[in-house]
Amino acid sequence: MDNRLAISRCPSYGDAEVRRALEKATAPFGGLAAAAKPGRRVVLKVNLLRGAPPARAVTTHPAVVRAVASAVREAGATPVLADSPGAGLPHTERTLRRCYRRSGYLPLAEEGLLELNYDTSSAEVHFDAGRVAKKFNVIAPVGEADAVLNLCKLKTHAFTLLTGAVKNLFGVLPGYDKPAYHARMRDVDHFADVLLDVALFVKPALHVMEAVEAMEGNGPGLGDPRKVGLILAGTSALAVDVAAGAITGLAPDQHPVLRAAARRGLEPNRPEHLEVTGPALKELRQEGWRWPPTVITEGGFSRVGPLQGILTALFRNGLSVQPRVRRDECTGCGRCREACPVGAVGVIGEKSYIEERLCIRCYCCHEACAYDAVELHRPLLHRLVGGKV
Ligand code: SF4
Ligand code: SF4
Repeated sequence: MDNRLAISRCPSYGDAEVRRALEKATAPFGGLAAAAKPGRRVVLKVNLLRGAPPARAVTTHPAVVRAVASAVREAGATPVLADSPGAGLPHTERTLRRCYRRSGYLPLAEEGLLELNYDTSSAEVHFDAGRVAKKFNVIAPVGEADAVLNLCKLKTHAFTLLTGAVKNLFGVLPGYDKPAYHARMRDVDHFADVLLDVALFVKPALHVMEAVEAMEGNGPGLGDPRKVGLILAGTSALAVDVAAGAITGLAPDQHPVLRAAARRGLEPNRPEHLEVTGPALKELRQEGWRWPPTVITEGGFSRVGPLQGILTALFRNGLSVQPRVRRDECTGCGRCREACPVGAVGVIGEKSYIEERLCIRCYCCHEACAYDAVELHRPLLHRLVGGKV
């Protein structure tokens, strides 16, 4: 893969500032026009976890989408914004309309800058080169696109620790196909293999990571915005994710996607593999980055060497963070129940509950809840043995 990565500072979401930063970051790769040839339909694959106001840092900011769409249109191509929202949401026209409205994308379409996708069909694709996912469904606009631009956002993630360029592409799977993969690939390393397969299949022309206001803490939906002031670009999703790890302080061997890449011998999977244009990664390190409590799971018994696997298996429940419903916050909306891949969540009397013995700790319920009603609880053993990133 291409080891090059470009980084540009972008202190705010002002239109001129974003456009300038985007042009600078994409210049080493021929700019956005390289993918946006006249007459092409170019899909802008945003992060549309769910509809959320841009200030919450849940979705790719509309100012970044605006700048990319403008550049694509000026190059003579048609930009089409598309994604299948995250866990717990059905892939329907109604859902898309609501998510677009809340995320600030509707005005872009009303101005004629881009098309918003409402086609909720999908098609099965075959990917013989996949390690785990050799056959899966892909939403129609992506399957039919002439080119895809991956417009991801830098955020923490309760299960995969970070969501970046590789993870963002998992959104090309329609609706409930996503939690179904969680049910089949219960451990994060297997799941990361699926993510890598999907990303290798989609093969966007360019990856742009929006980290002007990133998300730390309880991501991907309920964390806190954190000003990072950067836009990153590369033709390799791994290059972007390596940089995201370096900026936030997540070591490559703690980053499930980079571990999956390393197992396959795919580079870049470490910062030393990168050829960076722009500020050096060490200058950009965000001190005191806050992680979801689950990040410590990856440390687990790592300090006890070869016994790590045995002890982790023996004390799995005590060592893993438990999702718990905060009944006072719960509205009984049922999104967590829809998101749970193994039927561990129920709703009775407008309050949800979790059957712990069924729970596989995928944290889809946490991702799905827009009301901060699913907390991530660290058991005592987890707190005792857990190391810090
Ligand atoms: S915990 Fe309650 S509020 Fe949150 S998604 Fe589940 S049912 Fe809805
Ligand atoms: S209850 Fe457990 S298995 Fe179900 S979504 Fe939540 S974390 Fe995943």
